Amino acid sequence: MQPDLTDEIAALIAARGSVSLERFMGLANAHYYATRDPLGAGGDFITSPEISQMFGEVIGLCLADLWQRADAPPCAYVELGPGRGTLAADALRAMKVAKLSPAVHFVETSPLLRDCQRERVPKAKWHDSIATLPKDRPLLIVANEFFDALPIRQYIRTIQGWRERVVKNGVEGFELVPGDDPADRAIPSHLRHADPGSVVEQRPAANEIMTELCERLARQGGVLIAIDYGHSGRAAGDTLQAIHAHAYADPLARPGRSDLTAHVDFGALIAAAEEEDVEVYGPVDQGQWLLALGLSDRAAKLARTAPERADEVTAAYRRLTHPEEMGELFKVLGVGAAGWPSPAGFG
Ligand code: SAH
Repeated sequence: MQPDLTDEIAALIAARGSVSLERFMGLANAHYYATRDPLGAGGDFITSPEISQMFGEVIGLCLADLWQRADAPPCAYVELGPGRGTLAADALRAMKVAKLSPAVHFVETSPLLRDCQRERVPKAKWHDSIATLPKDRPLLIVANEFFDALPIRQYIRTIQGWRERVVKNGVEGFELVPGDDPADRAIPSHLRHADPGSVVEQRPAANEIMTELCERLARQGGVLIAIDYGHSGRAAGDTLQAIHAHAYADPLARPGRSDLTAHVDFGALIAAAEEEDVEVYGPVDQGQWLLALGLSDRAAKLARTAPERADEVTAAYRRLTHPEEMGELFKVLGVGAAGWPSPAGFG
């Protein structure tokens, strides 16, 4: 029988008094992704590549266009957290038509999702982290809904000052409470005087990955396209959420059985990138980016070749681009090696 993560975390808390929310979220999501395929109608949530093949195809064409303008060097396609491998399969098909057949490298920690990915992209090589990605060629890196799943740290302003939020064992299950140690120095100065009860989020794991990717791009050439839901500013606010069976759930109840995410702070990712010798593009709204890359033409062509699927294509097009659907909440951030041409779609 699977060891129960709720019991494991409760024992950890009993031994140490508390665990940080960051640790809780890291443990919960590692268990979650290792034990199920969360995507699609029968799962917990749906992502853009699962809505339509157009999404991955347009990304593939964007990368192929950039590669051609960079004089077509041998390069690697890298995807972070490729889910079912759908985006990669669609992108690689579109790239092949444009004469780009890169080596394929996936960064994925879930053995179960690796198996799904292997079915769609058998030639891929898998990595536990970005450290082992190839070092001898430019990298064309894609990350869709990867950063939002990485653990966040939360700080809360109390009457006594800022404290990191920690998880404790309560009478009715886990509870989120301010930790004991003063944490004012972790808070950026413009937010330090926020009202009591204000919450500030940070995602050290995402910033570290961004730094490492940018160092690679600066040294090896290439581009990163990161797509996620989030905000561009560095505002205060609690954005932690849990999704189970396409509905919101309590983030502390049943860890490992729902998907824990929080808004991506694009401002923080950009700040990490700007420390390195790279160019930052965007973030722009997903809808605007897809339209600039020719999603309308792609949709029209798909509907013409498969008229029986025209309604489905129209619905997917709307879902990916409309401001009230995924078009505005989701943003696209590009990072390119200095000296490389600019990726299309960023205006
Ligand atoms: N990109 C896919 C899946 C998004 S779900 C899509 O758009 O459909 C998040 C993905 O990131 C999953 O594949 C999950 O297993 C992976 N993941 C989560 N945390 C990770 C980590 N720390 N390292 C590597 N992969 C991770």
